Amino acid sequence: MPIYTAPLQDMRFILNDVFKADAFWQATPELAHIDSETVSAILEQMAKFTQDVLLPLNRTGDEEGATFANGAVTTPKGFKEAFKTYANDGWVGLGADEQWGGQGMPKMVSVMTDEMIFSANPAFMLYPLLSVGACMALNSCASQEQKELYLPKMYSGEWAGTMCLTESHAGTDLGIIKTKAVPNVDGSYAISGTKIFITGGDHDLSDNIIHLVLAKTPDAPAGSRGISLFIVPKFLVNADGSLGERNPVGPGSIEHKMGIKASATCVMNFDGAKGYLVGKENEGLAAMFVMMNYERLSMGIQGLGASEASYQNAAQYAADRLQGRSATGVKSPEKPADSILVHPDVRRMLLKTKAHNEAARCFAMYVAQQLDMTKYSDDATKALAADRVALLTPVAKAFLTDKAFEGTIDSQMVFGGHGYIREWGMEQIVRDLRIAQIYEGTNGIQANDLIGRKVTKNGGKFVATYLAEIREFAATMQTDWMKAALLKSADTLEALTTHVIERAKVNANEPNAAAIDYLHAFGLTSYAYMYAMIVEAASQKDGAFYKAKIDLARFFVTRILPELDTRAKIIESGADLIMGFDEGYFTTFA
Ligand SMILES: Cc1cc2nc3c(=O)[nH]c(=O)nc-3n(C[C@H](O)[C@H](O)[C@H](O)COP(=O)(O)OP(=O)(O)OC[C@H]3O[C@@H](n4cnc5c(N)ncnc54)[C@H](O)[C@@H]3O)c2cc1C
Repeated sequence: MPIYTAPLQDMRFILNDVFKADAFWQATPELAHIDSETVSAILEQMAKFTQDVLLPLNRTGDEEGATFANGAVTTPKGFKEAFKTYANDGWVGLGADEQWGGQGMPKMVSVMTDEMIFSANPAFMLYPLLSVGACMALNSCASQEQKELYLPKMYSGEWAGTMCLTESHAGTDLGIIKTKAVPNVDGSYAISGTKIFITGGDHDLSDNIIHLVLAKTPDAPAGSRGISLFIVPKFLVNADGSLGERNPVGPGSIEHKMGIKASATCVMNFDGAKGYLVGKENEGLAAMFVMMNYERLSMGIQGLGASEASYQNAAQYAADRLQGRSATGVKSPEKPADSILVHPDVRRMLLKTKAHNEAARCFAMYVAQQLDMTKYSDDATKALAADRVALLTPVAKAFLTDKAFEGTIDSQMVFGGHGYIREWGMEQIVRDLRIAQIYEGTNGIQANDLIGRKVTKNGGKFVATYLAEIREFAATMQTDWMKAALLKSADTLEALTTHVIERAKVNANEPNAAAIDYLHAFGLTSYAYMYAMIVEAASQKDGAFYKAKIDLARFFVTRILPELDTRAKIIESGADLIMGFDEGYFTTFA
């Protein structure tokens, strides 16, 4: 069975030494009750739960999968009990406000517990993840009455939540959805249509499922400006919160898919189901973005979790696997061969994965802190943080999952053929992670969002403030080589930003042609910033753990960061070559 040990020391280092979380919490009245010791205890508790309960269910969940029979979904053996423990221990509401029964923990804490669950059992994680996302959308847009009716039961895990957007003909382009919402005389709506690919659309983990559904009212304007958001409960909810009759909404089938097989991906049929409008008609997409943005950062953490798990298994395997001899002379003469850790190429794969993981953990924490600022800081800081979160969300989703997928593939390669067969669990990690690059808006769409709405649309304003912060930090740095690398990256990103904004004015195809490379250039610069913070924090400490942080930063600067120059060259090559191919060229096969 694959191994997993929660990287608690690394997490504490990021939280306490790099981000100096205690000082941040003390300066924030709503968070002043939190301290590093409490957080440490929370992390240890989650580490135990993931290692003892969730990890063993990962493989069996993959083998058994979620099943569909007689119009209902059953989760694999052990999931129900694990979810009950998870819910009873208050994990669903870890980050929820206390008024809804939550524990009021900041995102800076849940970002780490989420990572652990994603490492141990990503399919399990998707059930509470969707619930929490649905709660956040309701919290920001629903009426007080709706919040009181739904949030406490959803945050307690008694009820679950879903996000029902996708239809067979409408994935990226939600403006063309067909699901209808016709007003009833009692103020509710009759929801009719079919949604596909709905995570946790049905299951046996909770007593009720609250679907958040995008649909169009009869007179809605065409396109994305005519989309409304509805609450559609599996069982109708009485005014006192008790369950009423079954609503005509349910799964038609579940998908058979490449990975996360224990997570039920449902076709959902709405046959005139009763729905309740959230917010105003035609403003549903904006409300849903609260949920989608939360899920997007979570997908980045899904990537980190998977890549961390794959690294740990690959590193252990490499230490044990004996093949060949070291190029510089035999290292273990008493054994028939040396461990494959003597080979530079094996070390390259491991170090690349580890370097991405540590930067990703730091970056996730950075975004989490910005999210906490949007909630708890004064108005001016809140506004700046909101812009920063908007800018970094597509990077957190797409760059982290792209690099994490590379990490799982490299880790699988460390196993040679043993990574390809079922026994070691590496192929499952790869299969389970692949979806993170696709759902919640493909990584290509994230890149488009970054270069479009977050960069060119505001003339690079968000990027400029981010770069100003980076340069301000660089000015305080003691470590010259890291400082030079950071400043060079910032200059490159600035030049690329100016370039893409200018090119967008002359050719509308330029932004999309540059998008994924720009996102990667942005991600690499951000990781350079993370390593700069790591190096400065580690330099103030003694010991092998801290020295290794600095060495890994050197590895990043020397062997990963040069990719930024390649990305820059590709971006500068423009769109014309790509768009010059005739459409017929693509489908001429003979
Ligand atoms: C396992 C799983 C779970 C899911 N869970 C949910 C869920 O809980 N709720 C939900 O609503 N949905 C869910 N989805 C749907 C998922 O979010 C979509 O599949 C995804 O957003 C992509 O949409 P699509 O499949 O229709 O691809 P398409 O939109 O058809 O895109 C196809 C390709 O074209 C590209 N493309 C499309 N438009 C553009 C454009 N304008 N510019 C540039 N490139 C473009 C895309 O990047 C992609 O590469 C899930 C999907 C899966 C497989």
